[in-house]
Amino acid sequence: MALIVQKYGGTSMGSVERIEHVATKVAGFVQRGDQVVVVVSAMSGETDRLLTLARSVNPRGSQREFDQIAATGEQVTIGLLALALGKLGIQARSYTGWQVPIRTDGAHMKARIQGIDPDRLRADCQAGVVPVVAGFQGITDAGAVATLGRGGSDTTGVALAAALAADECQIYTDVDGVYTTDPRVEPKARRLDRITFEEMLEMASLGSKVLQIRAVEFAGKYKVPLRVLSTFKDGPGTLITLEDSKVEDPLISGIAFNRDEAQLTVNGVPDRPGIAAALLGPVGDANIEVDMIVQNVAADGSTDFTFTVHKNDFDRATEVMRTVSAELGAKGVGGATDIAKVSVVGVGMRSHAGIASQMFKALATAGINIRMISTSEIKISVVIDEMYLELAVRTLHKAFGLEQPTAA
Ligand code: ADP
Ligand code: ASP
Ligand code: MG
Repeated sequence: MALIVQKYGGTSMGSVERIEHVATKVAGFVQRGDQVVVVVSAMSGETDRLLTLARSVNPRGSQREFDQIAATGEQVTIGLLALALGKLGIQARSYTGWQVPIRTDGAHMKARIQGIDPDRLRADCQAGVVPVVAGFQGITDAGAVATLGRGGSDTTGVALAAALAADECQIYTDVDGVYTTDPRVEPKARRLDRITFEEMLEMASLGSKVLQIRAVEFAGKYKVPLRVLSTFKDGPGTLITLEDSKVEDPLISGIAFNRDEAQLTVNGVPDRPGIAAALLGPVGDANIEVDMIVQNVAADGSTDFTFTVHKNDFDRATEVMRTVSAELGAKGVGGATDIAKVSVVGVGMRSHAGIASQMFKALATAGINIRMISTSEIKISVVIDEMYLELAVRTLHKAFGLEQPTAA
């Protein structure tokens, strides 16, 4: 008998029929003798609908109220799934975040889980009742409902698995595992049997939204066995593992991409100590996160300073840069929002040289210009024109031989 936390995503909960299908799956585990705690998302599209509704009333309104509204999507699906389980003769009880309770900090719309009291859920399991918990939400010390950021139900699932010391956390979704890249962009993408936490964290941070970044962080930190599986198709899915040196790692495990960034350039900045701080300080003060940074000294001794921010922050960042650039006597501020970032990720990169040149050569052969580059120990990212994104993903997928099954 195992204790399993199962999380079902928005597509899996997308209609009454699908919720009934999820109930049948959960019932199968219960009937085999497992203890199951279920975490669910809102029906697909519902959180978007709720946030649009909120913004239509007051786009700059209180984030506390946005959370109050956004969290209702999950309150509906927990109830529906508990009803569907009841119809199958399985005892089930639904819980919102505050009813568990799941305590969070006060950072509305991107709150962090600070603690979970597992007693109620444990008592249910022992009494043969299946708890169905709302993902994505918790309660702050001030008694307000707070949400965990988009895709946050994954994090609820992993955090509950950690709090209950569950044997496994299973993330059920609309793909049957983690693929070498998003199968919606490259149909030849291949399911991975396993991927390390470290690689999964890079993939998630670089744009692969199959798991929320914080869920992977949490699972790594608390060593929660984590698996991504399909709701609709049986199979082993993908296990997220601690590094296993017995198996030789493939050079590249996957390709991630993200269309969410925009690029800003300040031209002709005087080249002297303190310039980077003078430019980026005010951006930080405006609460804008900066991702990639490139600084280049020209022959005339001036500097071009380029960086990327989230597209949503582009207008504000441009405003800040115009002010700072005038103060510093720079030549001007430029920018582009039609860019995309493509990254190759793999722990095997640590022990192999030449991955970067192989990547750049493949992109050059496809006629794709690179605007920016950044690297870390296990990833290389490039910024390119957005119109070439899909071509770049497919080109790199092929160049690194990701369609072929690995020998391991
Ligand atoms: P859920 O609603 O179940 O949480 P998501 O839409 O958040 O589902 O995540 C699943 C989606 O993630 C897939 O449909 C797929 O398009 C996308 N995805 C992006 N990158 C990958 C990847 N490397 N492997 C698998 N799926 C990926
Ligand atoms: N319903 C929330 C969202 O759409 C949380 C989730 O699905 O994980 O972001
Ligand atoms: Mg998701």
